[in-house]
Amino acid sequence: MKIHVVHLDATPSRFDFEAGAGWWRAAMREGGELPPELDEPFHVRVSAHRIGDDLFLDGAVEGSLPLECGRCLARYRHLVCEPFRLALEPAGARQPSDPEGVEALARYGMCLAEELETGWYRGDEIDLSGFVHEVICLALPVKPLCREECRGLCPRCGADRNAAACGCPEGPEHSPFAALRALREKSGGGSS
Ligand SMILES: [Zn+2]
Ligand SMILES: [Zn+2]
Repeated sequence: MKIHVVHLDATPSRFDFEAGAGWWRAAMREGGELPPELDEPFHVRVSAHRIGDDLFLDGAVEGSLPLECGRCLARYRHLVCEPFRLALEPAGARQPSDPEGVEALARYGMCLAEELETGWYRGDEIDLSGFVHEVICLALPVKPLCREECRGLCPRCGADRNAAACGCPEGPEHSPFAALRALREKSGGGSS
């Protein structure tokens, strides 16, 4: 996903990248909770131009990832469609204050500020590989859901309630207070 800085000028240039399994594996960090393998490539559309020494990019990352639903545990395809906008200025002699930034600048020729909208570049080309991976990671939900109205698994019998109602009683029995109430009833202290 490389863009040659010297080829850019004030007229926007269009780039279309396909980011596949090899890129995903290389960009993955150890210990992440993301799927280690990508079965379908992501598509990255970028429009880039340069004014003076400053680079301006905007585009979008599109694709999907197989994730596990946090409620019903089913595997499902999570769609990602993330627009982005970036302004990069030459790093010059400056060094990023964080080790990740130093590494990114050396590896990808670019490093970004916290909010992923501004950053520095160094050298003749920038490589969007690391940035695109980060965009995808930030776009993923903390608790993935196969769909908003997923009914999840029954906490009593484990049946998938999306498929059929299992007949277990719904209700406050699952709350921690239910256990307390049961205890109180057993000891005969319940008020009536
Ligand atoms: Zn689900
Ligand atoms: Zn049930």
